[in-house]
Amino acid sequence: MSILHELQQAANNADSPRSWRRELASAIRDPATLVRELNLPGHVADAADRAQRLFPIVVTRSFLARMRRGDPDDPLLRQVLPLDAETETVPGFGPDPVGELAAEQSPGLLHKYAGRVLVVAAPACAIHCRYCFRRHFPYDATPRGDDAVDATCAYVAADPSLHEVILSGGDPLLLSDESLLRWSERLGSIPHVRRLRVHTRLPIVLPSRVDAGLLDWLRATRALGLAPWIVVHANHPAEIADDCADALTRLVGAGVPVLNQAVLLRGVNDDESVLADLCERLVDLRVQPYYLHQLDSVAGAAHFHVDESRGRELIAALRRRLPGFAVPRYVREAAGEAHKLDLN
Ligand SMILES: *Cc1c(COP(=O)(O)O)cnc(C)c1O
Ligand code: SF4
Repeated sequence: MSILHELQQAANNADSPRSWRRELASAIRDPATLVRELNLPGHVADAADRAQRLFPIVVTRSFLARMRRGDPDDPLLRQVLPLDAETETVPGFGPDPVGELAAEQSPGLLHKYAGRVLVVAAPACAIHCRYCFRRHFPYDATPRGDDAVDATCAYVAADPSLHEVILSGGDPLLLSDESLLRWSERLGSIPHVRRLRVHTRLPIVLPSRVDAGLLDWLRATRALGLAPWIVVHANHPAEIADDCADALTRLVGAGVPVLNQAVLLRGVNDDESVLADLCERLVDLRVQPYYLHQLDSVAGAAHFHVDESRGRELIAALRRRLPGFAVPRYVREAAGEAHKLDLN
């Protein structure tokens, strides 16, 4: 490697974290700005102000740039725009729709499925998805930093049946590269842990996070004896704009398996062509469509509900149009079950 190349790499490593953090700091956090930037009618901001009191609005500039201006029904906008419908109480929709609090071994550590545990490793996200099943999750009670690593590692080390740890959130890639490395070092020192899975929406909504420092961390994780797997979350093909496609290409190019989970959402992707385009866009980037999730019945999200019969029709249509590896599994999370339920 030439000295020039090495210097350039060092400069990239020093600059990149600042650049994604800068982009995060410029995220939109008030309805008035969102409405102004997208040229929407004023009453949209008034409703959003009312509805965002329980779960504030957050949307990155990069995600905003992919929305159509002047269209309140844009499928990306719908995912982040608070509506009056969120404030309605709907029977069957509650604060903890999948019984997560019952599966908690300690705050933020969920052991529900065989062989793997899920850790709420970060208390925040770069975007607030209005349908999020953790929109009422008590993040304030989850441990941070070394306390979180210590608590998880003590639990995992004591159970040799655990081969995989899933970092979830919030969004675990909002942690610094140093914190991520700490997770890899500590989990990598437990002999029976072989995989580190990361559930993140950042490659989609904040693609600059996939920088040289993150790719270094993935390499370091592998060197520590853990195979990293990444599960991203995109629901609509318009989310996978050029900057996002580049980020996914960098991840796949680093040799990391990348899967996508989507949530079936009324007015966003409950349409055969939209889902087919999403899946094809993903496989063209070598990202595997993994799950299509039935919406969890979380309070405030009932207006996104799509009937399971409709979901099954959509999957049948995808089967007719796409190769088998491009068709996601249609699943639902269920309280007290040993795995997600296959709805097909
Ligand atoms: C979905 C989920 C997992 C992972 O399930 P996979 O089917 O392996 O993707 C693990 N833990 C919890 C609590 C989950 O909700
Ligand atoms: S990024 Fe994931 S965890 Fe965060 S609000 Fe969206 S769905 Fe919820």
